[in-house]
Amino acid sequence: MKRGKLIVFSGPSGVGKDTLRKALTFDNYEFSISSTTRKPREGEIDGINYNYISKEEFEQKIKNGDMLESAEFVGNYYGTDNNVVEKMLMEGKNVLAEVECQGAIQIIEKHPKAISIFILPPSLEELQTRLLGRGTESEEIVQLRIKKASEELELKKHYQFHVVNDNL
Ligand code: 5GP
Repeated sequence: MKRGKLIVFSGPSGVGKDTLRKALTFDNYEFSISSTTRKPREGEIDGINYNYISKEEFEQKIKNGDMLESAEFVGNYYGTDNNVVEKMLMEGKNVLAEVECQGAIQIIEKHPKAISIFILPPSLEELQTRLLGRGTESEEIVQLRIKKASEELELKKHYQFHVVNDNL
């Protein structure tokens, strides 16, 4: 069977990765469900949005070499399980990994043939407006995410494709 393609879908928090992914018109891909130590937001479901695990469980997964990539992002761990992704690729499925930038670069290094897409906001001001409008994080966390975003924008050179999310 032909191995599936790995698609790295990345960009700053609040840029609209989730919304864009859900609006994609091709459906022959599987979303790789990440593990995180972040607490679920209202409406998020364990095993669908993320696998919500403890810090100890996450650190154990890293020690066991189970993670394709992992990163600490504004106080929480996020990561992609290698076995899950490998199994889907072997089954010929295209896999979309929606990750922040440190994780994206780890995947690109391990899978140079992966398709890498970086989503940019029209501006940092617009990103801040979107993050505040989303209302899922405190103002303090929003400020940390904005600071992180300005660092992340420097990393866009690592990606094959750049998409400005100005109009869905
Ligand atoms: P949020 O807390 O808003 O759900 O996610 C914070 C950031 O972590 C977002 O940029 C999101 O795309 C990213 N993220 C989600 N899953 C993963 C993952 O498995 N690995 C990495 N490195 N980042 C992830």
